[in-house]
Amino acid sequence: MRSHAQAVVIGGGLIGCSILYHLAKLGWTDVVLLERDELTSGSTWHAAANIHGLHDHTNISLLQHYTMGLYKELEAETGQGCGIFQPGSLYLAQTEAREHQLRLQEAKARRYGMNFHEVSRTEAEKLHPLVNFDGIRCIMFEPDGGNVDPSGVTHAYATGARQRGAEILRFTPVTGTEAQADGSWIVRTPKGDIRTQWVVNAAGLWAREVAAMAGLELPLIPTEHQYFVTEKIPEIANLGRRLPSVADRDGEYYLRQEGLGLLVGAYERDMRFWAEEGTPGDFGHELFPEDLERIEPNMMRAIDRVPAVGAAGIRRVINGPMIWSPDSSALFGPVPELRNYFCCNGIIPGFSQSGGLGKLAAEWMVEGEPTRDMFGWDLARFGHWAGKAFTKARVQDQYAHRFKIHFPNEERMAGRPVRTRPVYALQKEMGAVFGLNFGWEHPLWFAAEGEPLEETNGFTRQNWWKPVGREALMLRNSAGIIDISNFARYEIKGPGSEAWLNALLANRMPTKVGRSCLTPLIGKRGGVAGDFTVARLGEEDFMMIGSGMAERFHQRFFQSVPLPQGTTFRSVTDMTAGFNIAGPRSRELLQRLTNADLSTPNFSFMAARRITVAGIDVMALRVSFTGDLGWELHCTEGDQLALYQALLEAGRSVEAGPVGSRALMSLRIEKGYGSWSREYSPEYWPQESGLERLVRMDKGEFLNRGAYAAIADKPPRDRMVMLSIAAKEADATGGEPIFLGDGTPVGQVSSGAYGYSVGMSLAIGYIKNGSAKPGDRLNVAILGRPHEAILLDKPPFDPEGQRLRM
Ligand SMILES: Cc1cc2nc3c(=O)[nH]c(=O)nc-3n(C[C@H](O)[C@H](O)[C@H](O)COP(=O)(O)OP(=O)(O)OC[C@H]3O[C@@H](n4cnc5c(N)ncnc54)[C@H](O)[C@@H]3O)c2cc1C
Repeated sequence: MRSHAQAVVIGGGLIGCSILYHLAKLGWTDVVLLERDELTSGSTWHAAANIHGLHDHTNISLLQHYTMGLYKELEAETGQGCGIFQPGSLYLAQTEAREHQLRLQEAKARRYGMNFHEVSRTEAEKLHPLVNFDGIRCIMFEPDGGNVDPSGVTHAYATGARQRGAEILRFTPVTGTEAQADGSWIVRTPKGDIRTQWVVNAAGLWAREVAAMAGLELPLIPTEHQYFVTEKIPEIANLGRRLPSVADRDGEYYLRQEGLGLLVGAYERDMRFWAEEGTPGDFGHELFPEDLERIEPNMMRAIDRVPAVGAAGIRRVINGPMIWSPDSSALFGPVPELRNYFCCNGIIPGFSQSGGLGKLAAEWMVEGEPTRDMFGWDLARFGHWAGKAFTKARVQDQYAHRFKIHFPNEERMAGRPVRTRPVYALQKEMGAVFGLNFGWEHPLWFAAEGEPLEETNGFTRQNWWKPVGREALMLRNSAGIIDISNFARYEIKGPGSEAWLNALLANRMPTKVGRSCLTPLIGKRGGVAGDFTVARLGEEDFMMIGSGMAERFHQRFFQSVPLPQGTTFRSVTDMTAGFNIAGPRSRELLQRLTNADLSTPNFSFMAARRITVAGIDVMALRVSFTGDLGWELHCTEGDQLALYQALLEAGRSVEAGPVGSRALMSLRIEKGYGSWSREYSPEYWPQESGLERLVRMDKGEFLNRGAYAAIADKPPRDRMVMLSIAAKEADATGGEPIFLGDGTPVGQVSSGAYGYSVGMSLAIGYIKNGSAKPGDRLNVAILGRPHEAILLDKPPFDPEGQRLRM
């Protein structure tokens, strides 16, 4: 057995083989895959292996689209059959919301040149004569939908990888992974050890056990999952062609042809966990006893829709395990706390996603960053707070509602609360409706007396729309107190702190004590990997504020710049809290609580210093994310409640009160400010996001300066723009495609909201550079239907920035 490799992939299921193949394709041929048994020995072998191209998340649609095209290429390249059937997929909408979802997906498909379009009932009946389309309000057809052979596909990846020089060792279980001081790993097996630069955990059902070998806990838990296959159905036998698959998600089952019968699978409400405490090491090609009673309600709905299912006998039932993350998306990416340890686990629709995940994983390891923004799938979206109880509760909810629509802004309650701040109980008493933000319960909005405390969900404006408007207007007219404890806060201290920050971030750090700056962090490909505010509180004392949900994501970048001797960096997010007091009367409000002079000559825009507010020491920073005059106050967590009470009390005298993060979202959009993971993403260059003026090439070296230099003089590919949309019942939320008047796709929305103080439905988005100019009329596909939009030349709220400098 070899003793060295550039990467060792652990697990020869669908995903491990795809990663191996893509690593070799990108030129890493000194790579090896270790499989404890035969290939496909986990979830892979018994999968129904349906394939779909469309997903609510645009980048995942692109990844699935790539995967579906890859299987044919793989067959041609390797000679290994993938058992591809692509008779198409029919998507059925029984409800208005489902229709909105499908129409939006259809518009997105037009934007990305994917094949997905509406068909009439007559056409659908021709395509699938066995389906009863009664009660279906909209039908979409995806001609490339279908299924593949699980074993064929896995072996095709394996063959392709071997043909490019990669090695696969079967019956070679990994028994240990040991991190070495130089960042490499020793991977132990009974047949010998391999020293490797990268370890890839693709151990599927055993991902937790393999992670534990590296001291890592992954939020994953397996469940049972069943499908059954019917006996031969004469109508199918007589048809002489293959039937399209049926995605009747409102019916909560999937259905496709298998042989000359039908295959029906279900995600039942009465779900079952399996191997909660750990996947047995000796589990192999076993299945669980069938339990069709559990999926009977789903089966009955399938029979109503396709009566032939009920008439045919059942030939085979498959009840096998699959492993889930708390939000049913993959746990993807290098583990921030370990060096060179990559995870690709918890993949539910593996056959739709294997190619894309393999490609992006290989890009991340070989090139340092994937070509697509994977933040939503990055394992760094979960922290230590995603423990066992949380994972179990969330997975139960995800499994039992697998086909439920995930609405924009929807907050699911399962497993909460996991992390609360001292103000939580008071906020609850005040009518706060909370969202989950990197584990924290965070107020989205506050219900007034008599208003419902629970949100409704949908694509259209929901019951929170008015209360959020009330808060936004209160802030614009007077002031608002916004809890920003969910921001990430870092302390950098010591003689090398300025040098370190300058080496990490793209802007020049403030040279004067008491000043702050905004700065991007540049990614490996020159895009925007983060945006931060840095305040200089002393000669050797800095505070940095960034996105809370990206804290673990950003850790990878922080670690890559060595700290000078005597300099310390620490996250203080968990032990501190913060409020943003904003609005034209925010100074008046604050001045009631502090002797510090808050007038502009003494506390100008972007100034920062430690002051006392209501007897509490805070770091006060005059910045604005609302576009209005305002301060951020950061305090210890222990002082949070007292500070909040004092602010609320003082707020009463200026007609100000609490404001939630939904209103903040609307306010920052009115002002055209970008936000992390929406406008600011590694996929966009600074000159596309309007951040180029914050990149200081003249200050010397900084992280990924070379990558930025390589693209700095290139014209923007896309441009961030603002749109005012003629929308009445629903606002854009992000992801909606943008078209020219003639239907040519030019971009997509990154964020949207109603701008209450400007009376417009607004969106920020990216469109192809040069495709439209201010004043042009475009179309945004909200609810999948064209809505006229005007390209604005400046943000509608205070474009000159007078309010924030008041
Ligand atoms: C009943 C059922 C139906 C499904 N239907 C579909 C579908 O229609 N469409 C779809 O896209 N997906 C479907 N899936 C999901 C799909 O099967 C998974 O997404 C996919 O198989 C995951 O592959 P994987 O490589 O991540 O994991 P696995 O297949 O579990 O592979 C992990 C591999 O790692 C190996 N391994 C583990 N530990 C070690 C170790 N210590 N050393 C060496 N090797 C190790 C295992 O032996 C195994 O071969 C279905 C799943 C089930 C259960």
